[in-house]
Amino acid sequence: MIEAHTLPRLFAGATDRPLSLAHHEEVFQPDGDVANVLEELNASGLIGRGGAGFPTSRKVELLRNQRGHKYVVVNGMEGEPAAHKDFRLLSTNPHLVLDGAEMLASMIGASRIAVCVARDNPTVVHHVEQAIHERARRNLRGPGIDLHTPPWRFVAGEESALVHWLDDNESLPQYRPGRPHILRIGRGPVLVDNAETCANVGLIGRYGAQWFRSLGTDDHPGSVVVSVTGAVQRPSVLEVNLGTPLRAILASAGADTSPQAVLLGGYGGAWLRGDQIDTPYSNDALAAHNLSVGAGIIAVLPRQACGVAEAHRVVRWMAHESARQCGPCAFGLPALAEDLFAVLRGGRDGVVAIARLQERCGVIEGRGACRHPDGVVRFVRSSIDAFAADIDDHLRGAPCAGAQSKQRFLSVPTLEHEEDLIWE
Ligand code: SF4
Repeated sequence: MIEAHTLPRLFAGATDRPLSLAHHEEVFQPDGDVANVLEELNASGLIGRGGAGFPTSRKVELLRNQRGHKYVVVNGMEGEPAAHKDFRLLSTNPHLVLDGAEMLASMIGASRIAVCVARDNPTVVHHVEQAIHERARRNLRGPGIDLHTPPWRFVAGEESALVHWLDDNESLPQYRPGRPHILRIGRGPVLVDNAETCANVGLIGRYGAQWFRSLGTDDHPGSVVVSVTGAVQRPSVLEVNLGTPLRAILASAGADTSPQAVLLGGYGGAWLRGDQIDTPYSNDALAAHNLSVGAGIIAVLPRQACGVAEAHRVVRWMAHESARQCGPCAFGLPALAEDLFAVLRGGRDGVVAIARLQERCGVIEGRGACRHPDGVVRFVRSSIDAFAADIDDHLRGAPCAGAQSKQRFLSVPTLEHEEDLIWE
């Protein structure tokens, strides 16, 4: 049994190879006390680790009351280029994720589980495939598990886009007028949870709520897996106790502990200033800065970097990644990227652009079928706020040294025909 109060939990027994089913059962031996997994899940206070921060037990309750041929979908798509945690979990402890998915299926009465991993990551696909075959060889009774491999894109991991893909091979988010909203494959209701959430359900089903709550804070219990990127020796994936000061997490990852700012929540998230990194890493503490843990992405920006140049690259890529089925994405996001570029160039155009950026954010917000444009707006507003001094320098025609350097810190896939900025 894994002891309470200790780490690692989700990565217990992990090596650079996936744990076999037999080894997994040795490492995660149940303590035999959990009689009712649903009650334990309710009492655990588990909040989904995919980014939306929705209580997992509420999703389960919603699906339990539905009729029809139900599905559990394990979201292992990892749409954010700065994230690696679900891939790491599926490559090291895939059976813990599958255990949790089976428990969720049993709680809602689902007859099939669909595990989704981007086909662009063949190593992870292979590890998950092997784990599913291992379980099938045991001939255990329970829901069938299928592996699906949609193409990777930022929006492909959005839960309604993923269900859309499973339903008819199109990775497009679905318009959902009110939330919560039941997604469906055919007429069958679907419960979507990301891989880390499923792995936590696997632990709660074994060791119970009290054990789970022995780490973390009262309002945000448990451990969380974070992807640390940016000003770090190499991108890392760590399991941390929720409530640990951010500075300690950066130190454990070998990252810059005197950064200019830290981006939390990924490219739809927001910046925490460098002088605020003693804040505990949990939703309750981060709420004071209007931030949350989100999908566990921590991107570190060093003092020598240009925040405006980094923001421009991210927004330009996010505009490219939209499904372009709604006006705010098709027209609004490229316009935000162009305005940020004008700010980078500075001068009179830049002054006009900075005023227009605020206006455009207001027009775009809340108008998309999914939250992709809202995430970009949040990121843009936060960037304007966090890098106000850099922006002033650019508008005065005196850009910082970071803007003129070729070194960039936020991980953004290269766009086709990508022309560099203005200082070539
Ligand atoms: S808001 Fe953007 S990403 Fe979302 S559905 Fe519309 S076009 Fe696609």
